[in-house]
Amino acid sequence: MSSPSGSPSSPSPRPTLSLVLPIYNEEAVIPELDRRLRAFFDGLPELAGSWEVVFVNDGSADASADLLGDLARNERRYRVLHFARNFGHQAAITAGLDRAEGDAVVVMDADLQDPPEVVRDMLARWREGFDVVYGVRSKRHGETLFKRATAHLFYRLMAMGLGVKIPADAGDFRLMSRPVVLTLRSLRERHRFMRGLVAWVGFRQTAVYYERPERFAGETKYPLRKMLRFALDGVTSFSTTPLRIATWLGAISGAAAVGIGVWALYIKLFTDKTVQGWTTLTLLLALTASAQMLVIGLLGEYVGRIYEEIKNRPLYIVARETGVDSDSAERR
Ligand code: UDP
Ligand code: MG
Repeated sequence: MSSPSGSPSSPSPRPTLSLVLPIYNEEAVIPELDRRLRAFFDGLPELAGSWEVVFVNDGSADASADLLGDLARNERRYRVLHFARNFGHQAAITAGLDRAEGDAVVVMDADLQDPPEVVRDMLARWREGFDVVYGVRSKRHGETLFKRATAHLFYRLMAMGLGVKIPADAGDFRLMSRPVVLTLRSLRERHRFMRGLVAWVGFRQTAVYYERPERFAGETKYPLRKMLRFALDGVTSFSTTPLRIATWLGAISGAAAVGIGVWALYIKLFTDKTVQGWTTLTLLLALTASAQMLVIGLLGEYVGRIYEEIKNRPLYIVARETGVDSDSAERR
């Protein structure tokens, strides 16, 4: 492949298209990914070679770093950021968006579940004037029923007002225009839920539909535990509705207290069975105690997030970069 235009000393012109690919232990897919990307760019002569790929190695423990290093040595339009440790998928996307210089930037999974060929449709919609083109999975192959069911439930819950309205079944696979990318760069919150942030910024948004194929190789980096954490981040970063649960619970238990009070007084005043009621007491105690714990826990989720926000640590740490002009790479 030819090297990009412009000598290393002169500032290189902004590429038309940037791809951002988060990589975490993907050694099994990287060679095929490289082949598919090259085939994809070869099939897009209208770009005239004006593209770049930003790989973000999110602290991989396998051979991914070396494989990416080799690729970047042979292709100057491949840039690689190596994180100092694993910071998570959303931080990796953030770093990619911080570095990507394209007029259009596409974020996609490295495992080829987001086929590069769909990017062609996204580019077409972008040229029509849309700022955000998100990929919606019309079908998901090779994902467990459980994953599909929980994902479905999550998107419906979010749409019901538990957060920002994000398009159902759209993941992080999306094209964003440079104005959107620049806006996103200014949002530095910690518990990042990128697809929510993109929906939140607005601009002209549209969808393209695609069938999501199976992971090319390797296994999902999102076990149930991480998925739950991610869903919780999605809700807490866009909604304080859960905090109102305490108010609702208070109202409900207040109403119940009136009923129980009338009943207890009745038994006391008009019957002689006042000692009975151990079961009732135990139940009531257990119920109120757990409801209070639940609410304290919820409060804690938000307080913990305030604490982490206040510390203002960087969202990620880049240990080294390859394929980037050192003076144009500002560190965050
Ligand atoms: N990923 C990452 N850091 C992580 C977990 C995942 O950069 O801590 C990357 C991963 O390499 C992949 C993308 O994020 O390119 C999506 O992960 P995965 O395909 O495992 O998620 P799924 O498609 O199963 O939801
Ligand atoms: Mg995947």
